[in-house]
Amino acid sequence: MADLILFWHRRDLRLSDNIGLAMARQRSAKVVGIFCFDPAILQAEDIAAVRVDYLLGSLKALKASYQAAGSDLIFLQDNPITALPRLAQALDAKAVFWNWDVEPYAQTRDDAMIKALQEIGIAAHTEWDQLLHTPYDIVSKAKSAPYTVYGPFWKNWATKDKADPYPALQGLEGLSDKQQEIVQKNGAIAIPALQDLGFSWDNGQILEPGETAAQRTLEYFAAKHIEAYDDARNFPAQPGTSTLSPALKFGTIGIRTIWQATIAARTQARSDEAHTGIRTWQQELAWREFYQHVMFHFPELADGPYREHFKNFPWEDNDSHFQAWCAGHTGYPIIDAAMRQLNETGWMHNRCRMIVASFLTKDLILDWRLGEKYFMQHLVDGDLSANNGGWQWSASSGMDPKPLRIFNPASQAKKFDADAEYIRHWIPELRAVETAQLISGVIDASDLARAGYPKPIVDHSVQQREFKARYAAQKAKLTDISASLS
Ligand SMILES: Cc1cc2nc3c(=O)[nH]c(=O)nc-3n(C[C@H](O)[C@H](O)[C@H](O)COP(=O)(O)OP(=O)(O)OC[C@H]3O[C@@H](n4cnc5c(N)ncnc54)[C@H](O)[C@@H]3O)c2cc1C
Repeated sequence: MADLILFWHRRDLRLSDNIGLAMARQRSAKVVGIFCFDPAILQAEDIAAVRVDYLLGSLKALKASYQAAGSDLIFLQDNPITALPRLAQALDAKAVFWNWDVEPYAQTRDDAMIKALQEIGIAAHTEWDQLLHTPYDIVSKAKSAPYTVYGPFWKNWATKDKADPYPALQGLEGLSDKQQEIVQKNGAIAIPALQDLGFSWDNGQILEPGETAAQRTLEYFAAKHIEAYDDARNFPAQPGTSTLSPALKFGTIGIRTIWQATIAARTQARSDEAHTGIRTWQQELAWREFYQHVMFHFPELADGPYREHFKNFPWEDNDSHFQAWCAGHTGYPIIDAAMRQLNETGWMHNRCRMIVASFLTKDLILDWRLGEKYFMQHLVDGDLSANNGGWQWSASSGMDPKPLRIFNPASQAKKFDADAEYIRHWIPELRAVETAQLISGVIDASDLARAGYPKPIVDHSVQQREFKARYAAQKAKLTDISASLS
């Protein structure tokens, strides 16, 4: 009988182009998948119902793929550090394989798992899978240190050879009847419904869950949109971006498969514009890797600002402003449209993520961590590294060398939603208001009253001056402190 290997899935919910799984298959044909619903994650404050819904849909698809390949996916619901070794031991599994993650919680958990397995004499085997290059591979040539600025990171990252996709698993061997019984006695559960986990989400998904849908979406984007991406990615009313972020978050598609699609698109591209579009999309994939690398090397990013002047920044304490931002009732149409898109769909266009994050931090002068948490509680693609990176970039508290980036909501709307198509879609009560008013944000009082839409809760020009003054005072304070120390 072949040796039994368990493969622990976390954010790699697919059979194809999965390095850890391919390595497990090389070791034995008898590979069985495990997914453990971890109460520490499901009960965390920053969980989103839409994300759990995508996860469950993807797990159902993965179980069906395992069964079609001759094996199965088993579900546990417990602390993985105790539940998985217990099951592995009961089944006399020879090894547990999984793919590394960069997040602080995952790293602590995985180290504890290795130790728990070692104690019972079961081998742990880990691979890097979710990145094209591991955090150890992209370091500065001069100092062999991790990059803290994207530009040089990208230059190094782009020149490195990238691996080809790994083939899909086939011809697996499943558990015997006896082993099935052992599985049942050791905590295996049927896949829970969303409600069983304490969530509800009825608004559908921007991307259908599962590996097949992710692959189809990649093919469609590579065929129809990637060549125009450089320009089209900025307009939230257009379908110019891939919407693959949930798939990249949960690994329903392999990153090497995505990269290969960009190389194939490049061989078809016939214009400079097309080449630029493909290159720009590759750069976004590199942003994703940059933020994961910095989270791996600087886990303190998860706890607060990177830059010194933001450590004790005098943020406002104004819950009614925060609630207005959350609900899409700030009186700034582009902000409110974006927040309503998030609340209703669990996804927001990248341009709008930047605009609303700038507004929260520079116009409302509220701590970026409030926005970071709210995004995590509502985004289907909510991901610690990308979200923290995006928020610290917008707040000017992160690694980005350009410190004071302030977006003017009206200029952004004029440039990127010139016909107010996006605004009208998400703010139905303003549909009858003329475009010039919608994009400038200056709406006639009579129109506002008719629509029941609020007046702007703050004045952008007053607030940006106030933010700059607080920032300058903060910098001066730090200069005084360092002068007094030297
Ligand atoms: C404040 C803020 C918060 C964000 N929070 C998240 C988050 O929680 N999860 C998340 O995946 N992205 C986050 N982003 C990045 C970006 O907005 C989304 O990845 C993108 O909108 C997803 O849409 P798409 O799949 O159509 O992207 P595309 O434009 O098609 O890009 C392809 C892929 O590249 C990656 N990517 C693109 N832009 C970025 C970026 N700036 N940073 C990191 N990766 C990127 C994503 O994986 C994305 O799916 C955030 C950005 C900001 C400004």
